[in-house]
Order: sequence, then structure tokens, then C-alpha cells
Amino acid sequence: MPSFDTSHIMPTAVRPPMVMTEGKGSWLKDDSGRVFLDFVQGWAVNCLGHSPEVITDALVEQSQKLINCSPAYYNEPLLDLVNTLSSLSGFDHVFMCNSGAEANEGAIKLARKWGSLNRNGAYEIITTVNGFHGRTLATMSASGKSEWDGLFEPRVPGFTKVPLNDIEAMRNAINDNTVAVMLEPIQGEAGVYPAEIEYLEQLRTLCSKQGILLIFDEVQTGVGRTGKMFAFQHTSIRPDIMSLGKGLGGGTPVAALLASKEVSCFTPGDQGGTFNGNALISAAAKAVVDTVSSEEFLANVNENSQYLTSKLCELSERFGHGEVRGKGLLLGLRVNNANSKDIAAKALDQDLLINAPYPDTLRFMPALNVTKDEIDQMIERLTNCL
Ligand SMILES: *Cc1c(COP(=O)(O)O)cnc(C)c1O
Repeated sequence: MPSFDTSHIMPTAVRPPMVMTEGKGSWLKDDSGRVFLDFVQGWAVNCLGHSPEVITDALVEQSQKLINCSPAYYNEPLLDLVNTLSSLSGFDHVFMCNSGAEANEGAIKLARKWGSLNRNGAYEIITTVNGFHGRTLATMSASGKSEWDGLFEPRVPGFTKVPLNDIEAMRNAINDNTVAVMLEPIQGEAGVYPAEIEYLEQLRTLCSKQGILLIFDEVQTGVGRTGKMFAFQHTSIRPDIMSLGKGLGGGTPVAALLASKEVSCFTPGDQGGTFNGNALISAAAKAVVDTVSSEEFLANVNENSQYLTSKLCELSERFGHGEVRGKGLLLGLRVNNANSKDIAAKALDQDLLINAPYPDTLRFMPALNVTKDEIDQMIERLTNCL
């Protein structure tokens, strides 16, 4: 049992009875001194592992200079970060915020404003079945999670859902009211289901031809997770709007909305937030982005990905499980004849943290700088659970 009083926490999550106290790299320690091998990493958030020096140094240094001067004034780390993100991604304008859902809310608002200016007030956004875009009212409505049907009614109107990778369904869903298509390049929460490259390229053509916007939710796939800085770089196309979150701050809360000049139509007063672009977290994100975007770092992510993929395939074959899906270090393994939640619970007994987003899927999202030895240890522990 926890040595802390947990009775005042609003019960919005089922948590095991440990209280985490310390982390370093791929390792996380609880208050009893038990050490876990962490392949969840805050849900693909801690891209450099727990408490990496580049982030702690950036936080310490920046906190002694300036923490927050409010969004009413420029600050240096914010400008550094925004300029870096713009040059890495090719998007002209960047809006910093605090969570993936907030970035997606911004994307939805931006598309609606663009529709009111350029498409006779069209406001509908087509999203995908099983897609996930966050937990605010609008982003829940944009998400295609059937478990949420009937929750917090009435829903925010203006979202239509079609199956992923079905270009005909998308073509048929577009009408005069449609302003944009929004999707994840790899559906993460749904259990790691990639959009096909060809489908994304067809979508680009379709959206351009119909005069509607293409929005990529790269909250999970961005910042090196798939082996490139952004997942859209695996294709020959670019979206009009992109959101980032999760890995962007390496564990600190930060997200971003990026848009090309042509669609960046917010004017002062349209969008904002008290903590947005604060100097402290911008400095941390800048340190993360500089580290992850280096060629050597991304080459190592791809090497780790190949290694982890081959180990998971071996394991799957040995125990009669299914395919390994995903890219980079966002991988899913289909499990047959077993509930992945039971496997994840057994893994916890082996001091291994893995995620079971769906009953038939285990998801692996280690630190991007995980070592081969840590991958081997994960496989060994997972083997004991199968
Ligand atoms: C996690 C996630 C979000 C929501 O991000 P929060 O920071 O939890 O609000 C949105 N979209 C995708 C694809 C995600 O994986």
C-alpha cells in the first residue's frame, strides 16, 4: 500500500499502489526503492528518458534568469524555440501552448476561422474512426473513440468520422460544409495503426483539389518518435497545420500549433493562454528539440527501432502472437489469445512498465535514447510474462 494519502486525488485514473519518486534515463524508482524499467516514459513524452541533463540544466539556468513574463511580452527562449521549430518543420508560424489537446483546439479554431474567411463559413472537420486528439470538449468530439460515445453530452458539433486508410470514404465525406481533414499519421492511442504513406499523399491531393485544409496531429508522432523529426517527413507532402506535444518538452508540459502563412489567420485576441510560451518551459523544449533534431540522434533512433522491432518479431513468432506495427520507437505488438492488460499487469510484477492501449495490443514507447542493453532487459522481462 502507498505510504502516502491518496484519498484526495480525483479518481480519474486507475493507478497501481506505488508512488514514483525518482527517475533517470530508462529507470524509474518508487518510494520503497523498487526500480522499474520504463517503456511507457510518460506515454511517449520523456523522449530523452527521465531527468536528462540537457533538460535539468536548461531548467536550472533559465529559472535563475526569467521564468515567466506573460504572453504579453516576447522572451528569448520562446523566440529561439519558435524559430528553431519553424526552420526544422518549414511551417511559417508557431503558437506555443501547454498540452496536445490545447494545440489541437487551436488547430480546430484556426481551421474554423479560415473557413469563415475563405470557404463561406464551412466549419466541419473530418477525422478518423479510433483517432485520438485529446480530452477537452472539442478534441473529445474530434476523437473517434467509441468508449466516449454518450459522455459529456452534448458534443461539440462539426466533426464527421471516416475509417483510416480509406480514401474513398474520405472523398465521399467531403461536402460544402467541410473545412478540413484532421488525423494522426500513426494512430497512437488506438493501438499504433499507421496511415499508409500513399493514403496521406492521396489525402493531400484530395484536400488541395477540394480547397480544404489538411491537419496532422503529430502530438505523439512528432519530435523524433518515428525516426524523423516529424512523421510527415516520411511522405512527399506536408499538411497545412500541424500540432505537437508529448515529446516536445521531454517531460515538461509544452505543445505547439504550427501553420503555413496561407492559413495562419489568427489576429490578436483570437487565441492565447496565461502560461503559453513561458520562458522556463520554452528553454526546456529548445534543449529537447536541439538534441533530438541532430542527425546522429535520429540515426540512433532508427537503429534502436530496427533492433526493438526485430526482437519483438522474434518474440511474437516464438509465442504465436501477431504483427508488430508502427515506426521508429512507437511500436505496437498484437497479442493473440491473451489480454494485453493482463500481460502489462504481469510485467509490473517483473518491474517492467509497458502500456496496453487496447486488449489486443501492447505499445512500446521507450526513451528515444534507450540502449540495446535496456531493450534486451525489456525483452527478457516480457518473455517471462508470455
Ligand atoms: C496524447 C495525445 C493528445 C493529447 O495530448 P494532451 O497533452 O494529453 O492534451 C492529442 N493527440 C494525440 C495524437 C495524442 O497522442
